[in-house]
Amino acid sequence: MLTLPVHYPGSLRRLGIATVAVALLAACGGAEPPAVLAGSATTATVAAPQPTIKVAPLDAAVPGASATAVEAAAAALVLEPRLALEHVRVLSQEIGSRPAGTTQERAAADYIAETLRAAGYDVTIEEFPFEEDFDRSSVTVAGVSAPALAMRGGADGTANGMLVFAGVGETAELAGVEMRGRVVLFDRGVVPFSEKARAAEAAGAVAVIVVNHEAGPFRGNLGDLRASIPVVAVAGDLRPSLVNDLGQSVTVSADGGMKSGVSQNVVAKAGGECRAYLGAHYDSVPEGPGANDNATGVAVILEVARVNRVPGLCVVAFGAEETGLWGSRAYVSDHLAGTARFMLNVDMAGILGGPVIVGDRVLTDDILKHVEAAGIASPLRAGSFPPFSSSDHVSFSAVGVPAVTFNSGDDPAIHTPEDAFERVEPATLTMFVQAVDAALRGLLQ
Ligand SMILES: [Zn+2]
Repeated sequence: MLTLPVHYPGSLRRLGIATVAVALLAACGGAEPPAVLAGSATTATVAAPQPTIKVAPLDAAVPGASATAVEAAAAALVLEPRLALEHVRVLSQEIGSRPAGTTQERAAADYIAETLRAAGYDVTIEEFPFEEDFDRSSVTVAGVSAPALAMRGGADGTANGMLVFAGVGETAELAGVEMRGRVVLFDRGVVPFSEKARAAEAAGAVAVIVVNHEAGPFRGNLGDLRASIPVVAVAGDLRPSLVNDLGQSVTVSADGGMKSGVSQNVVAKAGGECRAYLGAHYDSVPEGPGANDNATGVAVILEVARVNRVPGLCVVAFGAEETGLWGSRAYVSDHLAGTARFMLNVDMAGILGGPVIVGDRVLTDDILKHVEAAGIASPLRAGSFPPFSSSDHVSFSAVGVPAVTFNSGDDPAIHTPEDAFERVEPATLTMFVQAVDAALRGLLQ
């Protein structure tokens, strides 16, 4: 699950540009060979999913004594939800936190690739660049630090001095304040940030703090000014304590900007052009092990892919989702994804909140029918994400592919250290394995 930050660095705009380019490419690709999965006329060429699929009981043990039973189940292509639970354990506990661009993310990609190869897929790992806004700025008084956001145009670095207050920075307010060697606190408003910073710099200040006129944080920029001192913004609810700290020694650290890195998608093909997609992101935020978000989604598609290897099915595990849907955007930019019939994404499948299918409404209705027809007792319904949240299906929607995300509902622990393997509910994971399997089979018919 991607939660959009306070300031979102233009990624949506970039998606828009990529979308147009890919849509044009897709339009030009209309003369391709007939789709393997492209409809009833060609179903004769589809290796139909096994009609005898059974779901192994959840309490069938995986390791140890009954390993042969699991092997037999695997050979017979019987859904085995315990294998999915094991994938969640490996990704979230053995590998742990998997932030974009890290060796842990890469280790997860390798594990996923290995799992899909073992299931008979042709697997490639496709690298792509991504960028990430970061800001580790802070204001520290007497050993206690509060977060700050660096203003664009201010200098990076750390400065220390006595904290003085200069109002909003009007001439009369500046006149009576000795700023040399000091950190100047301004209220936001009236005088532009650049003028506050310029006045403080000219008077010999070592750093500037601008406090918001509302409780929360904000980002600012200094326009054309390139200040030689750090200039940071802090949340309005810090104002009382900062005013209380006037005359104390304060340290300002400005450390923000754009970080670039390399992530990777794991792309698995079962032969032929990609006409149907299963997807899930496998990266996590740095703050936690990403069990529900989204080791569970990966586990679901791995297990469903294992028992449904038919020509035309492609499985993509996306990297760098949490930093701005980079993996799915890279995928649709690099491939003619727009010709696919559908895309099923899974993002969070382990903690039952209000489970929803988000995205294309016609596809959602089809899925719900297939899930019901398969006799799966599922609380799934058509729904939407919380505000400012998104996932990888939107990159496929943007190039014209009917696409949805399966989501197990609100989980307050995502993006925290508490999003751990122990919290994942096996019964919920099983329900999603069964529902996505039923949806895929139904849609492929
Ligand atoms: Zn997330």
